[in-house]
Amino acid sequence: MTMAEGAASSVDLKSLVRTIPDFPKLGIAFRDITTLLADRDGFRGLLDQMVDVARPLDVDLVVGIEARGFILGAAVAAELGTGFVPVRKPGKLPGPTVSVDYVLEYGSDRLEMHEGQIRPNARVLLVDDLIATGGTALAAAQLLREQGAHTTLALFAIDLPDLGGTATLKRQGIPVHSIITFDGH
Ligand code: AMP
Repeated sequence: MTMAEGAASSVDLKSLVRTIPDFPKLGIAFRDITTLLADRDGFRGLLDQMVDVARPLDVDLVVGIEARGFILGAAVAAELGTGFVPVRKPGKLPGPTVSVDYVLEYGSDRLEMHEGQIRPNARVLLVDDLIATGGTALAAAQLLREQGAHTTLALFAIDLPDLGGTATLKRQGIPVHSIITFDGH
């Protein structure tokens, strides 16, 4: 182990996440991972833990959810030696897409992915920064399922278990793992 690796393994990841009250709206405690990403040992430590969980699964592909899921998902994919496919908000991808609509607390939203980038029966690692209600991850998993792929694991930096997303995904048969947990909303 190098000195940098030693420092990364001992860093308190949770303390590097900044909480911004009332962002993007009143009552939301925004868990901001940019402070963790900006810290050399924090980023390395988080990545090491995510890769340790994912490596034994031998996935074919990493799929990351816009936008912070791109940062973590691409880094994990590079470590695992797999490809990376982005799931994006509507209208961002230039090529033909497949999409899924999903319901939010107020209204609905859509996720898109380029068609033809998921092989049928692919074992996929789904990555995002945070799971709250699980609506976003569930929609992404549905998009993968519709293309014949399996969400082998949904992997997050942060879980807000009180919002129920992890339980919802597990009820749907989707394995879930998160590195850091925050109680409350
Ligand atoms: P959900 O679909 O409710 O599980 O929400 C997860 C998505 O919304 C993820 O892409 C997160 O980046 C974002 N998100 C939801 N709640 C928060 C929060 N409290 N802090 C930071 N990001 C959040």
